[in-house]
Formats: sequence, structure tokens, C-alpha cells
Amino acid sequence: MKSGTKYYFVVVFIMLLGVVGQTVGPLALMASAAVTRNDDEQIPTGKGWGERPAPGHRAPFAWRGTASNGISYHGGPVILGTTNVYYIWYGNWNNNSATTILTDFANNIGGSPYFNINTTYYDKSNMHVSNAVHWVRSTTDSYSQGSNLSDAGVQAVVSSAITSGRLPADTNGVYFVLTSADVNETSGFCTLYCGWHTSAIMNLADIKYAFVGNPDRCPSACEAQSTGPNGSAGADGMASIIAHELEEAVTDPDLNAWYDRRGQENADKCAWTFGTTYSTSNGASANMQLGGRDFLIQQNWVNASGGYCATSYP
Ligand SMILES: [Zn+2]
Repeated sequence: MKSGTKYYFVVVFIMLLGVVGQTVGPLALMASAAVTRNDDEQIPTGKGWGERPAPGHRAPFAWRGTASNGISYHGGPVILGTTNVYYIWYGNWNNNSATTILTDFANNIGGSPYFNINTTYYDKSNMHVSNAVHWVRSTTDSYSQGSNLSDAGVQAVVSSAITSGRLPADTNGVYFVLTSADVNETSGFCTLYCGWHTSAIMNLADIKYAFVGNPDRCPSACEAQSTGPNGSAGADGMASIIAHELEEAVTDPDLNAWYDRRGQENADKCAWTFGTTYSTSNGASANMQLGGRDFLIQQNWVNASGGYCATSYP
């Protein structure tokens, strides 16, 4: 009862602030600065949750979009023009349909109504993300870092693919380390996350990369359903995680562009929600067709009209 009363007063106070703020310009600015500069604001880790900035550091100032669409711009770059996708098949993927299913997926996500959601994000010059994705090529890595990968191990896998010349150093690229089900990522795969993305300087270039593990390792944690629309629970589960990390890598490649007060990036805000689904011939659920295949792909956050989760835009 007491807390209810407190809550009521807080709500009334905020409403009053809103009324005053709308009529008095400078006060509105002060109020919004107080909100966006709040020490409680978190920054993204790339793993789906936010963290407090290091002691003595403040979260970057939110430039635009504050509150209006539920996600804010913090001044960093987005990926402009065509986004290039590279796969690194890590571990043992012999005779696994994932290599075909996920290559088809990367070849067809660009230009889709789904990926078009990312065009609602832009940089400080008001240049918008494009709906162009190009799957370039893949390489393999047979356990160069063993079966237990650390975050640094994942970076080493990407770095070695680039420095060896197996893949080019492409600042418009997103490099996916895709691990087979016998490989663990020791910082929290299957317990804290199903995938993550970040960036690092490699060969003097700002390289964006992501880890996505085979969720056959932990179906209850990282697979939305035990039968996927393409008959591979692991690959079908990975498609949804790849989509998630790709759209975050495009709109927040260096973890300093688009995220909300809790440090959540666009896909984090809609993780594990799928919108309207339909049944495929093998009984699996799907929510979109890409290149003739059905997929069940998590929704993404639309940075328009107040902000909402969707499988397509407009
Ligand atoms: Zn995420």
C-alpha cells in the first residue's frame, strides 16, 4: 500500500515534469539531459545485456531518438552500403546440412522486408543503413583453438582467417565464427547467450565479427523448436541467432551507436519473439520465406513510429 502511494506520487511528478517541460523549452532540455546523462545508463556488451561504464566513465551522450522510439543513437558508426557476410565454419561440419541452409540464408536475407527494418537506423550524417547484404564466401577452421573457445579464441579464429589470406580484411564485413555442436564458448554459450558480436582492430582494419554456436549443444536454451522448417534444428536455430547478430552488427558495429538505456541493441529488444507464425510441411513453425526456404527468425526493433518489434518494415 505504501509503495503504491509512492508510485502514484512519482507518476504524478513525472506527469507534471512532462507538462512543464512541454511548455518551458530550457527546462525540457535540462530534464532530457538529466535523463540521457544518467549514471545509471548502461552500455552494450554485444552479448545481449548491458553493463555499467567503468568507474569514472559515463555512458556516451544519447544524441537522438531518446525515448521517442525506445532506442537511442550514441554517435558511433553504423555499417553503410552493402554489408558483406563471411562464415568461418569452425570444428567439424562434415555432412551437415547447416552449410547449405545457412549459406542460402545469408544469400537471401538482403533485400528482404525483414532486413529492411535496419534501414530505420542512421548515423550522425543522417546516412541510413541499407537493405543490401552480400554473402561473400566462407572458410573452415579445424579446431585451431581447440574445443573450448574463449572470447579471445574466437577473435584469434577470425584474425587467423584474415592474416592467412583465407578471408579479406573487409571493414564492411561481418565475420561469423560458426562452431559445431562439440565446441563450447567458455564465457557463457548456452548459459548466458546463444551468440554475440563485437569488433576489433585486425590488419589495421576495424573488423566486425560474431560468434554463433550450434544450439544442438543446448536445444532447450538456444533452439526455438526441436524440429526446424529446414529439417535441421541446429541450423534452423542458428539462422535466427545469425539474423540477430547481423542486425546488431550493422546498427551498432562498435557498440557505440544504437542501443537503449539498458544497453540493449535493436535485436535484443525483440529476442525470442516471432510475431505471426505458420506451419510448414514437416510440422515446424516458420514466420518468413527467404529464397524459397521457410525460416523462424526472431523479430527486430523498428526505429520508427514509437518503436516496436516486427518481422518486416514498413
Ligand atoms: Zn544481441
